[in-house]
Amino acid sequence: MMTSSNGIYYWPLNSATTTSAAAAAAAVSPLIITAADDAVSERSRLPTPAGQLKLDDHEKLFASVSTAKLLRASANLQAAAVKPMADMGMWVMRSRLMETEVVRELILGIIRHTFFEHFCAGEDAVEAGRTVLRLREAGIRGMLVYALEYATENDACDRNLDGFIRTVHSTKSLPPSSASLIIVKITAICPMRVLERVSDLLRWQHKDPSCHLPWKLNSFPIFSDSSPTYHTLKRPEPLTPEEERDLQLGHERLLKLCRECEEANIPLSVDAEHTAVQPAIDYLTYASAITHNRGHDVPIVYGTMQAYLKDAKERLLLACQAADQMGVPMGFKVVRGAYMSSESKLAASLGYESPIHNSIQETHDCYNDCASFMLDRIANGPGGLVLATHNVESGKMAAAKAHDLGIGKVNQRLEFAQLYGMSESLSFGLRNAGFQVSKYMPFGPIDKVMPYLLRRAEENRGLLSASTVDRQLMRKELKRRLKTMIL
Ligand SMILES: Cc1cc2nc3c(=O)[nH]c(=O)nc-3n(C[C@H](O)[C@H](O)[C@H](O)COP(=O)(O)OP(=O)(O)OC[C@H]3O[C@@H](n4cnc5c(N)ncnc54)[C@H](O)[C@@H]3O)c2cc1C
Repeated sequence: MMTSSNGIYYWPLNSATTTSAAAAAAAVSPLIITAADDAVSERSRLPTPAGQLKLDDHEKLFASVSTAKLLRASANLQAAAVKPMADMGMWVMRSRLMETEVVRELILGIIRHTFFEHFCAGEDAVEAGRTVLRLREAGIRGMLVYALEYATENDACDRNLDGFIRTVHSTKSLPPSSASLIIVKITAICPMRVLERVSDLLRWQHKDPSCHLPWKLNSFPIFSDSSPTYHTLKRPEPLTPEEERDLQLGHERLLKLCRECEEANIPLSVDAEHTAVQPAIDYLTYASAITHNRGHDVPIVYGTMQAYLKDAKERLLLACQAADQMGVPMGFKVVRGAYMSSESKLAASLGYESPIHNSIQETHDCYNDCASFMLDRIANGPGGLVLATHNVESGKMAAAKAHDLGIGKVNQRLEFAQLYGMSESLSFGLRNAGFQVSKYMPFGPIDKVMPYLLRRAEENRGLLSASTVDRQLMRKELKRRLKTMIL
């Protein structure tokens, strides 16, 4: 988990250390999807054969994007890929210049109209709602992510809960289904120290089943036989009455949010974080799913499985098995995982092997395996699946399998997801192939989402950056449109 100086946290998108972003200021401007030019929008109505993910047809992929927007996004993504420019931006953002009010305001102003607009949905729920409506015109949905503070005290948890609940309320005024899920981070509604202590105790109980945890509620299995337990080397003290109360308050906050989501008929997805606190996050997620998912065709509560962990597939199987036995439809968002370097460093510092797969290929295999397992489940039974990835191969494999299994737009249980402002070609390609696609859309005051923006700047920097495929396809499409205009 990344924590900024003002206590704001986000999972980082890749393992690279946070770098800067005034690169952003100079570099990137938004590709906000808008109603397309008439000539090109016609093309987007031609269907792609169902289930086929075609990412080379740039004309069709960007048919819902106006030429002006495409030109702007392409130019700015190209600029972001120029490393020296990005590096200079990073330097400015880190320098003491930012301590000067006037300079800070100026830089934030530039970022607001460029990078912020590209990667964030707005400064508040109203703006975020408008962005969701624009996405809807392009046939894409939104996952709303309120930018919030990682909490150490109950007061802050209460404030954060209010923010999440306001987000749920704001989706009620949007057209049905235009927002696919609400995202919550449990570290924002339950104090961090309690999550660490609960994770320790759960881990110890896994090692020594005779360890009694009086506060523990019904849950699905959180560990598998191969789950590492090096975080907890000696028997932890039981929770103090105060810690038990804080845990209960955290759980009540989550349940309150679940109730709001149930009333608004929108699922809630709990983000995964680092392994020091993930057992407590899974525990609270599963306990809440047991209360809220029964009787729903599409689950209300979704957990997140990080496929870069060696024990991910086993844990996914165990949790699904238990959910079936209890008659609880369970939803999972499957991601690769965003804390690679900090996880490996922690394990190494304690003299243990990393919990992360030994190679990226093993992570890819595990991701595809988990995706395939979940697709089989939702095709034949209850549950829900969000495939959150920018990886084109994973997207293609999952799309082909979903198509073979007969899962498409009509099936509300499958959602593909990418970050807002990233992997537009994959999102459009999946949409054209007939799947439900969402963008993960953080919103909040610019200073709060700054750490998130810094990581997006880092990713799009350099010639081998995450935006390479998008940039190439945008360029080709612009050339084609220019040629059409001239002829
Ligand atoms: C909609 C959405 C929601 C997300 N929610 C979460 C969340 O709740 N929690 C979370 O942790 N992350 C989350 N992420 C981030 C995600 O975990 C990945 O960091 C990010 O999506 C990059 O992975 P990828 O699948 O797009 O594919 P790629 O870019 O193909 O894969 C990169 C990933 O592979 C893994 N990897 C890289 N090198 C190695 C190596 N040497 N050995 C082993 N594995 C390696 C890492 O996980 C890295 O992030 C989310 C991403 C999206 C799009």
